Parts: sequence; C-alpha cells; structure tokens
Amino acid sequence: MGGESGRKHAVVIGASIAGLCAARVLSDFYDGVTVYERDELPSTPDNRPAVPQGRHVHLLMARGAMEFDGLFPGLLDDMVAAGVPILENRPDCIYFGAAGHVLGTGHTLRDEFTAYVPSRPQLEWQIRQRVLQIANVEIQHRSVAQPRFDADAQRVTGVYLDSDGSEPDFVAADVVVDAAGRGTRLPVWLEQWGYQRPPEKIVDVGIGYASHQLRLPEGALRERVIVAGASRQHPLGLGLLGYEDRTWTLTTFGVGKVEPPHTFPEMLALAEELLPERISTALRRAEPVGEPAFHRYPTSRWRRYHKLERFPAGILPLGDAVASFDPTYGQGMTMTSLQAGHLRRALAGGADDLAHDVNRATAKTTFPVWMMTAIGDFAFHHAAGQAPRWYRPVGSLFDQFLGAAETDPVLAEWFLRRFSLLDSLYMVPSTGLVGRTVRHNMRLWLAGRRAARAERSGALAAS
Ligand SMILES: Cc1cc2nc3c(=O)[nH]c(=O)nc-3n(C[C@H](O)[C@H](O)[C@H](O)COP(=O)(O)OP(=O)(O)OC[C@H]3O[C@@H](n4cnc5c(N)ncnc54)[C@H](O)[C@@H]3O)c2cc1C
Repeated sequence: MGGESGRKHAVVIGASIAGLCAARVLSDFYDGVTVYERDELPSTPDNRPAVPQGRHVHLLMARGAMEFDGLFPGLLDDMVAAGVPILENRPDCIYFGAAGHVLGTGHTLRDEFTAYVPSRPQLEWQIRQRVLQIANVEIQHRSVAQPRFDADAQRVTGVYLDSDGSEPDFVAADVVVDAAGRGTRLPVWLEQWGYQRPPEKIVDVGIGYASHQLRLPEGALRERVIVAGASRQHPLGLGLLGYEDRTWTLTTFGVGKVEPPHTFPEMLALAEELLPERISTALRRAEPVGEPAFHRYPTSRWRRYHKLERFPAGILPLGDAVASFDPTYGQGMTMTSLQAGHLRRALAGGADDLAHDVNRATAKTTFPVWMMTAIGDFAFHHAAGQAPRWYRPVGSLFDQFLGAAETDPVLAEWFLRRFSLLDSLYMVPSTGLVGRTVRHNMRLWLAGRRAARAERSGALAAS
C-alpha cells in the first residue's frame, strides 16, 4: 500500500454525517478542505432528497452524542437550546422493547445516562452549521463523477466533477474521503484501477419502513422515546420519537420482507398491539401531518476494505460507504462518529498509509457491533441467508438474558448501556452476569410454580 503525500488539499465526497465529520477532522491537518455534495443543501433543518432516511426515526445513541460533541464542542448545548429533548435514561422518559422484552420499566437504573433526541435533519443541520464556520472548509454543491487515479504512482490524485460542459472539471487533492454513503462506487473504481473489490459481509434483512409525522397534544405522553423492536413472534416493530419542533415521528417497520402498515389507521392498530394501552390511547389523539414516507432497506452491508492486500493511496472510505448497519438498531451515525475518531488518530500519528490505518481501526470497531446485530437479525428478525451455526443458540441465550432483564435492573442497565455503545462495543456478558441471569430466571420459574400450586389448592378448597 502506498504512502501519503502532502497535506495541502483534502476533498470529501458527500456532505452528510460522515462527510461533515471527515471535513471537521481533515480541517485540522490540511490547508484546505472541499466537500462536494450533489444535493442542494437546505438553509434550515429540513429533509433532502439524497438522505431519504431522514424522514424516519433516527435514534442518536448516547455514545454518538458524546463523540459528536467531542468533534463539535458545544453541539449538544446548541441542540438543547434549539428545543432538542434531553432525557435521562429513566422509565418515565423512555419505553424500550427489544426482541419482545420490555426493559427499564418498573425500576430505576443505578447508573442513568443522558440521551438526546434530535431529528435527523436537525442533527445534520447543526453539524453543517459548525462545519461551515471552519475557515479552511468549503462545501460546494457539485457532484463528483469519479476520483482520478494515477496508475504510475498507484494513487488517487483528485476528483473529476460533473459539469455542464463536455469535459468534467478536475480538482487536485492529496486525499479524497469517500463519504458517499452505501451507494458508493468505490468498489467499482477499485476494480477499474486494477485492484480487488472488497470482500463483503451481507445480511439479507429485508426491512421496510413506513413513517408518519404527527402532532400530539402537549403532555399526552410522558416519554419522548418509545421503541418496540421486532421479535421472533412478531416481525413488525415501531419507534415513536418526540423531536425539537414538538412534532413526533411514528415509524413502523417490518423485518424479513414483511410489509409494515401503510396507512395511519393501520399504524395505530399496530401500536395498539405492541404498546401498553396508556401509550396507544394517547396516540389515538395524534393528528397526522403530511403524507407517510416509505423506505426499503434490503441488506446490511459491510465492505471489508481492511482485508484487501493492495489499496491505492490517496483515498479512503468512511461511514455507510464502509458499513451500513440494520437501521432498526439505530447505530449508523454513532459508528460513523467512531470512524471520524480513527481518522483523527491516524492523521495525528502521521500515518504513512492513512487508508490502511483507518480501514483497520474501522474493522475493529465494526466487528463487534456487526456481529451482534447479525445475531439479532438471524435470531429475532427473520433474516434470510447463511449464518454461522452458533448464531441461533447465542440468540436464544440472549433471549433468556433479555427475559431476566425485564425484572432485574442490573441486567437491564448492562444491556441498555451496551446497546447505547457506551461501556464497550462488545455485547458479551461476564460469567457473573450469565449466572445472575440463570438464577433470576430460576427464581421466576419457581415463583411461577408456587403460584400455580397455590391457585390449584385454592380452587380445590373452594370446590
Ligand atoms: C431507514 C434508515 C433509518 C436509520 N436510522 C438510524 C438511526 O436511528 N440511528 C442511526 O444512528 N443511524 C440510522 N441510520 C443510518 C444513518 O442514516 C447513516 O449511518 C448516516 O446517515 C451516515 O451516513 P453517511 O454520511 O455515510 O451517508 P449518507 O447519509 O447516505 O450520505 C451520503 C451523502 O453523499 C452524497 N453523495 C453521494 N454520491 C455523491 C457524489 N458522487 N457527489 C457528491 N455527493 C454525493 C449524498 O448526496 C449524501 O448527501 C438509518 C438509515 C436508514 C436507511
């Protein structure tokens, strides 16, 4: 793999979450950074065509909030000032159902943590405003046709931009960051330049999203985050988030190619099935705003660039361009924020081979999260395709763990902190926690038997 050249000009393809984070990091190391974005960027926190997922619920994990605030100090305060709900991870703020188990209700967690609930357009807009204020960064409304590859030097030396004229414009760059999202053409370009395509891990999740914006009467719900994930028994789930502009987004989804409800009355019927009566009754008072939005997400995809023996210098992928996770787990933006950290560390360490270092670091953080979501997809989300044999038994053990976590606050807290990617990216309970799970489930089982016996003898005495 080739070494890096100077640090004059960096180009970023795409001004979404990954591109903006990349620009922030690169601005500390390059004289100038130009971000090219094919979408016209709105001047207010609005949805835009190239990020259709913005119309559906976007959970910002607690870890992601911390990482973004590290990249853009003051971001969280500004979001709260803009009305973004801030909430402690307490039962009265969050209703959280995972794989058919409801966690965190009926008891207070010992170690609460803070979550933020910006809408996706709000988060991107807040970050963009900060990037626009960086003196050596420029965001241009142009589409990148493709990078320029110098075969003699075996490196990318800039990008060609789509132009109205016959010849595309060329812009030289010492490094190009591909933050073009999961539709990136980097694998194709690599092949054209004489490299291998990256090997891929794919999970056929077959997810469909259907969302509606809502208005709810003030105080109708005490929670701001309501999640009921799909389960083995039920391939449909939903998320309901209250955002900064006092609107709510209700997203329903189907996994394993099961269609989610398409109309608002059907969405309400699903909410009635999945949520406690108190919440579904409040939802009946909601007023739908605008038209529903739909999105299909057929596969999770991890392009494993770190496995390639040869990779050109002068270019590196970031964000969904590398790994696009099952969105129902709400991890994509947080995983992108971690990759921005890898880029910073590689640049600060003066990496000879930037892509090599960043690709490897990204693989290390992607692996545990990818594995856990894949286990969940095969065990609970009816994913199709070949999975390692041990995925399903591990999924069953997790089912027991989540069952115990419903009534054991220590287990619930462990799960919620890990799910938020706070303590570790690995979702592997210690032997102590496994023992606790077994004892807890055993106690519940014995209590159930005792209650049944008491009921039987009560009935006999009465007859
Ligand atoms: C339905 C759905 C729900 C999701 N929910 C969550 C959630 O709850 N929580 C969470 O953390 N994550 C969620 N995600 C994932 C999250 O949206 C992404 O991880 C996040 O947007 C980071 O993506 P990105 O910046 O890498 O790419 P994208 O957001 O896809 O952006 C790519 C950008 O590159 C631009 N671009 C592409 N090609 C070119 C070109 N040739 N020239 C110029 N510009 C170009 C595009 O216009 C776009 O702006 C969800 C995703 C989906 C699909």
